[in-house]
Amino acid sequence: MKVKPTYKEIKKKINVNVFPYEVYVVLTTDVNEARKRRNKIFGETSLDHAIAMHSSLHTGFSYLFLPYNCTPWVLCHEVFHTVWEIMHFIGAELENEVMAYLMSFLMKEINKFGSTWK
Ligand SMILES: [Zn+2]
Repeated sequence: MKVKPTYKEIKKKINVNVFPYEVYVVLTTDVNEARKRRNKIFGETSLDHAIAMHSSLHTGFSYLFLPYNCTPWVLCHEVFHTVWEIMHFIGAELENEVMAYLMSFLMKEINKFGSTWK
């Protein structure tokens, strides 16, 4: 796929302090292009029409590829995948309050970051 001249992204790394885990948030005009630009990390993908995406290799980090105008419900969906991945990575039981805390922490951090989009 040809890169659109209007392609733009901003990226932020969120450390999930109490857990050994990093979340990279990529806000972009083109989710599929952003993911393809990380083929060296994740390998080739056949996905071409995703509206948002969570990617991980189960090695202590996740990438969230989000449209810059991401809706709260899509963001929530992708953040849940991240929380799920974190819980499995650290070998924790799926504990209600810990997962809810992580959800709100990540939603808040991503929301702050999203407001920097210009
Ligand atoms: Zn999903």
